[in-house]
Amino acid sequence: MQDKLYIDGKWVAPAKGGTADVINPATEEVIRQIALATEEDVDLAVKAARRAFDKDGWPKLAGAERARYLRAIAAGIRARQADIARLEVLDNGKPFPEADWDIADAAGCFDFYAGLAEEFDTKSVEPVLLGDARFTSKAVKEPMGVVGAIVPWNYPLLMASWKVAPALAAGCTVVLKPAELTSLTALELAAIADEVGLPAGVLNVVTGAGSIAGQAIVDHPLVDKLAFTGSGPVGSKMMAQAARDVKRISLELGGKSPFVVFDDADIEQAVEWIMFGIFWNQGQVCSATSRVLVQQGIYERLLARLIEETRKITIGNGLDDGILLGPLVSARQYSNVMRDIEKAKAAGATVACGGNRPEGLDKGYYLEPTILTDVPLDSEAWTEEIFGPVVCIRPFATEEEAIQLANDSRFGLAAAVMSKDDARTERVAAAFRAGIVWINCSQPTFTEAPWGGYKQSGIGRELGRWGFENYLETKQITRFATDDPWGWYIKPGAG
Ligand code: NAD
Repeated sequence: MQDKLYIDGKWVAPAKGGTADVINPATEEVIRQIALATEEDVDLAVKAARRAFDKDGWPKLAGAERARYLRAIAAGIRARQADIARLEVLDNGKPFPEADWDIADAAGCFDFYAGLAEEFDTKSVEPVLLGDARFTSKAVKEPMGVVGAIVPWNYPLLMASWKVAPALAAGCTVVLKPAELTSLTALELAAIADEVGLPAGVLNVVTGAGSIAGQAIVDHPLVDKLAFTGSGPVGSKMMAQAARDVKRISLELGGKSPFVVFDDADIEQAVEWIMFGIFWNQGQVCSATSRVLVQQGIYERLLARLIEETRKITIGNGLDDGILLGPLVSARQYSNVMRDIEKAKAAGATVACGGNRPEGLDKGYYLEPTILTDVPLDSEAWTEEIFGPVVCIRPFATEEEAIQLANDSRFGLAAAVMSKDDARTERVAAAFRAGIVWINCSQPTFTEAPWGGYKQSGIGRELGRWGFENYLETKQITRFATDDPWGWYIKPGAG
């Protein structure tokens, strides 16, 4: 099934496209083949989703019925959690415990939205009070229709779940396109959906290139809504293209998130959260806190401890025990990150630690966790996303300066602050121009809480009830609730 597409409840070979190699980033070996969908396949998938939405009654099912399918999918994911996590490691490179956590989260996401689907049965209609007693009105939430979900390679199954689960819960049908580098677990999701008897056409999975299969989804006139997570340039272009048909769109894009640490913070805790904020998932995290600002009183001591602990990180194949940092996802990503480190050096930055291929790891896209100091504020290393295990760190003097530096970015996905002074952390949290703020930590993510960016980090919110709203339209139904004549053209008694 891995070299097939899942369209209209069936595993099919692509109409015209061929296959592409799947490479294990830890070994550089080809491990599988995936199908490359073209416009023809996407057209079939969208039409199947359209039919499932318009004619087969998925949106007409009670929310509680849809919830039963979602819970069955969650159970199906959990039943083979370890196998799916292993597949994610082979495909993406992340250490197994991280993948295992992701897959558990993906299952949790389906359960969470099953709960919202059930609630929807009683919460989809809201009375609206009008200022004219002759009328009654209600606002009804309804599913948007056919969703084109396009996801990246950093959290393959989890990013797919953040879109597929709320969309299906809301009553939408979906065409999912995983990233070409990491499609295997999305195909597993399709297999699980198939096993639990999800009606044909409700979820379709088309693997393939972004510029061909992804573009065909964006261009398809029968798609109502695009839900995208990925890079800024692709998201921005997609938004312009969606404007042509006024498609609904939500975008989760990149970031260059700050982490502000004040003098009164516990240095050991700060070091650990800084590391978790940038080295988790090899730093290939959209919300990674890649700009660290440390108040000058503890800067030198904190930096020394950060370097010490960073050097201890165990690097290797994510399937081996005790590994905390795996390879980057691809040869291209590896060379991009290496290029960014070279550019940072050329701009005057100092590599305080890392920056090279680790000794003894000649195969695989491995890179040492890297700390950059003396990074000029106008250099790309400070302003642009690197999307690798590379952190920039600099001292600051005052709270005001920290906030100014933190917000001085075209991105606004996340921000973190650490201090023992709760009034100060609340003040700084309020001042951050970012959609996600962590206090005394960085990165923990919960299905219940809204996720998304300010500024160029995106538009719309995923997760929680906000992620459910993403897939709903609002309809007003207004009734003229009196037998009295309207009396505009035809005066009462005139006929
Ligand atoms: P990408 O934008 O290149 O690709 C993302 C997806 O879009 C892939 O499935 C790809 O095939 C598809 N795609 C590419 N070109 C397309 C086109 N013209 N039309 C339609 N689809 C197209 O990004 P990537 O390299 O896969 O992922 C890394 C980026 O994603 C980073 O910049 C990161 O910040 C961002 N990201 C953001 C979040 C978030 O929640 N905000 C989460 C994860 C990743």
